[in-house]
Amino acid sequence: MIAVLKQGTTDAQLENLSSWLRAQGLDVHISKGETHTVVGLVGDTAKVDAELLESLEIVDSVKRISEPFKSANRKFHPDDSVIKVGDTSVGGNIFAVMAGPCSVESEEQVMEIAKAVKAAGATMLRGGAFKPRTSPYDFQGLKADGIELLLKAKKETGLPIVTEIMNANHLPLFEDVDVIQVGARNMQNFELLKELGRTNKPILLKRGLANTLKELLMSAEYIMAGGNENVILCERGIRTFETYTRNTLDLSAVPMLHELTHLPVIIDPSHATGVARLVKPMALAAAACGADGLMIEVHNDPAHALCDGAQSLTPDTFADVMKSVGRVLDAVKA
Ligand code: PEP
Ligand code: MN
Repeated sequence: MIAVLKQGTTDAQLENLSSWLRAQGLDVHISKGETHTVVGLVGDTAKVDAELLESLEIVDSVKRISEPFKSANRKFHPDDSVIKVGDTSVGGNIFAVMAGPCSVESEEQVMEIAKAVKAAGATMLRGGAFKPRTSPYDFQGLKADGIELLLKAKKETGLPIVTEIMNANHLPLFEDVDVIQVGARNMQNFELLKELGRTNKPILLKRGLANTLKELLMSAEYIMAGGNENVILCERGIRTFETYTRNTLDLSAVPMLHELTHLPVIIDPSHATGVARLVKPMALAAAACGADGLMIEVHNDPAHALCDGAQSLTPDTFADVMKSVGRVLDAVKA
């Protein structure tokens, strides 16, 4: 349920209303927009007397929200959310680009790539330390050592780091990680999502291989219901009958999610296509359709990458993609 307040409502009146609602056992989310303040109510709103609420002097209108996701709902928070990450952010006017290797393999590798992606304009460094591999015999990542190497690269370049968590028991290792990624395979690991909801770290939530947008938003809701509103959504392709590409990139997810939610939405054209030469056209399309950013895999030696070499861009190709993305963003703004 949301209550839109009349213009000119004072902070004291808002506080009064909030405490009255909290006393009814509800969570209160306040979103102050340019003209109106929206009060979102989460909890058992069936008991709330909507007519009584609407009759209050400061209340303009009251609406029940039919969607099962509340905190993530655009109706609760009409303005786009901007998620702060170190000195940069995701959402709003910033086009975020998270780039780096699928897996952290060595200090030389991650340093070289980090410097290259920074020079090309990436805003964050991505790299897997804990890798969710389909086969238990494949490289599983450098784990804690991988996070150490990412932190070294962060110190050297100043780029905030993004890396995936697979087990909530590993959370202490993520203390200095800037953005914690929940991979596609864990999108509905609800116990993990609840734990992440108790942190205040930005969470990059990737869409599951066969999940709907509503399910993605419900997973975001798990994190937000715990008190962590710093959620970034990522479309990374879904599984279809097509086999030429690794997945099928659902670009319509971008405008649809922007309608449904205030959370930023980024695109991962690397896992979506699985083919390095398709990354550029899909990155440009993502920029054109209003995505808030990109996640792109970059490797200094794709042919010898321990994971996902076929979809990894070289630093030079990445720099070329960044230039073209900049031109698309300017064209779309114009
Ligand atoms: C990744 O980003 O390294 C990854 C494993 O992606 P996904 O979870 O989307 O497959
Ligand atoms: Mn990968």
